[in-house]
Amino acid sequence: ARQSGGHRRLRHFQRSMLDDARERVQLVSELRRGIERGELRLFAQPIVDRHRRVLGEEGLIRWRSPERGLIPPDEFIPLAEQTGMIIEIGEWVLDQACRQLAVWARDPATQHLTLSVNLSERQLRERDFAEQVRDRMDHYGVPAGKLKFELTESVLNTDLDRTIRLLSLLRADGVLTSLDDFGTGYSSLSYLRQLPVQQLKIDQSFVDTVVDNAQTAAVITMIVQLGRAFGLHVVAEGVETEPQFQRLAELGVDAFQGFLFSKPRPISEV
Ligand code: C2E
Ligand code: MG
Ligand code: MG
Ligand code: MG
Repeated sequence: ARQSGGHRRLRHFQRSMLDDARERVQLVSELRRGIERGELRLFAQPIVDRHRRVLGEEGLIRWRSPERGLIPPDEFIPLAEQTGMIIEIGEWVLDQACRQLAVWARDPATQHLTLSVNLSERQLRERDFAEQVRDRMDHYGVPAGKLKFELTESVLNTDLDRTIRLLSLLRADGVLTSLDDFGTGYSSLSYLRQLPVQQLKIDQSFVDTVVDNAQTAAVITMIVQLGRAFGLHVVAEGVETEPQFQRLAELGVDAFQGFLFSKPRPISEV
């Protein structure tokens, strides 16, 4: 309880800091220094099937600041995107993820696991992104079909042709793609036909109300049918209760992620 109280104070402190331009500059320089000092940490949260067997993990970044404690991504990723630091952070996450997958590949107990990495739109726009990915995979010897990227629907709003080409290139190198927070974007469903993605990740806002809202259940049923029609794996995120899990399984969802199964923890503890 003491820890979560501290967290709340911290969040409030940082929100008010962001209001002030000078203090924002301060946070940016702390983050820059934090990156140099190796203060970023990769956490991971399991994704399970309907029998609760772990299929893979999602990497979730944290910043462990000596001054501010453990800072969640929502409090520094937007700033990192605005300043361009996201490129460097993204490279670090990709490197860590590939290294981890190579370690898992050597152990029969973990070699089946996939690892999902969240990408910002800005990373995808880097000219040599596909080459960077191939380079890290080759460097560590990552097997095909294990690295997965999570993109939000927003990446489909600009230069769809380029995104399609990039995802096809990645697919040819054995990298899978998932559409994160699915159902919250504004993009047309017709792009799904053209897009080389393999997974839809139903947003937590639908999971939150699936048990007692018939309209939510209808939306999830539609996403599941869409997934079947396009041959996509359908995952639900933010599953917190047993009734949510049961209902989602009844509706045909393939895989599940949430506090019900595990909170994110340091990836070394997987
Ligand atoms: P996301 O990819 O949609 O990740 C899901 C978020 O929901 C995570 O928050 C996770 O800890 C949280 N979560 C998981 N299960 C539950 C649950 O049962 N209940 C509740 N209430 N929450 C749950 P987190 O770790 O704070 O990450 C927030 C967002 O930050 C992520 O949303 C993702 O968009 C972004 N992010 C995280 N790591 C990275 C990264 O390495 N690079 C980039 N570009 N973005 C990242
Ligand atoms: Mg995600
Ligand atoms: Mg998500
Ligand atoms: Mg989300």
